[in-house]
Amino acid sequence: MATKKSIEYIISPPAPHMVGDGFRVHSFFPGGRLIDKKRMSPFFMLDYGSKIDFSPSDEPRGVGVHPHAGFETVTIAYHGKIAHHDSAGNSGVIGEGDVQWMTAGSGLLHKEYHEEDFSKTGGLFQMVQLWVNLPAAYKKTKPKYQEITNDMMGKAFLKDNKSYVEVIAGEYNGAKGPASTFTPMHVYNVKMKKGASATMNLPSHYNTGFLVIEGNVTMNDSSVATDHFVLFKNDGEEIIIEAMEDAVVLVLSGEPINEPIAAYGPFLMNTWAEVEQAIQDVNAGKFGVLEE
Ligand code: MN
Repeated sequence: MATKKSIEYIISPPAPHMVGDGFRVHSFFPGGRLIDKKRMSPFFMLDYGSKIDFSPSDEPRGVGVHPHAGFETVTIAYHGKIAHHDSAGNSGVIGEGDVQWMTAGSGLLHKEYHEEDFSKTGGLFQMVQLWVNLPAAYKKTKPKYQEITNDMMGKAFLKDNKSYVEVIAGEYNGAKGPASTFTPMHVYNVKMKKGASATMNLPSHYNTGFLVIEGNVTMNDSSVATDHFVLFKNDGEEIIIEAMEDAVVLVLSGEPINEPIAAYGPFLMNTWAEVEQAIQDVNAGKFGVLEE
């Protein structure tokens, strides 16, 4: 018999800030007294761009060239489109419903902007950027991309046959996620019609948090409003989500990486010496070159 997971905190969206001029995000973690840098490990950072209407612009909004090393950035587009370019010559577009899983590993430079056509027409924009830590053994892995389009994701339908769990990474009731990960985790979008119910069974030792992207729901009988993040205690397995209206819930659950963290800007290492080294490597041009 599964035991219910209890809720540790329901967190309302923190005041948003801009990343570059294109991403207005609520940073749910790390930070503050509620979720420190290890509490949601292997997930290190959750930036949530709640719904916003961007006016048309000929000059795509976004964030210019910057490095990353020692972890993975996972970008999930709910509304709008994001274009990216990197110092290895890769580029692409993350469309609505799609995910880009980028392993920065040993280090790269990239830039992230609103996709050109989206920029010109403007419109509704909603996204998530998640930073997934890498264990020491894989910190220096070669950079890579996984372009995960919506049709690649595993789908497990719920009892009403209209609602479903869309699996990005890990597994739900036999439906598998296409993302390859370096440590065990589950990342899903639960897309529910009003009145639907979804049962999650996630190991008690996995750190688990849910973000409500759309609609109002209950989780184990507690009401949770749109744009709120729920941190669960590591005390059980079962979470029942009930949709009070059409809803989308992002599920994050993963096995913690029990290693020291030295985090500085876009670098996520085990020691400060490694952070120092990464800064020197960027300055020495070892992350490559990318034009603004
Ligand atoms: Mn970035």
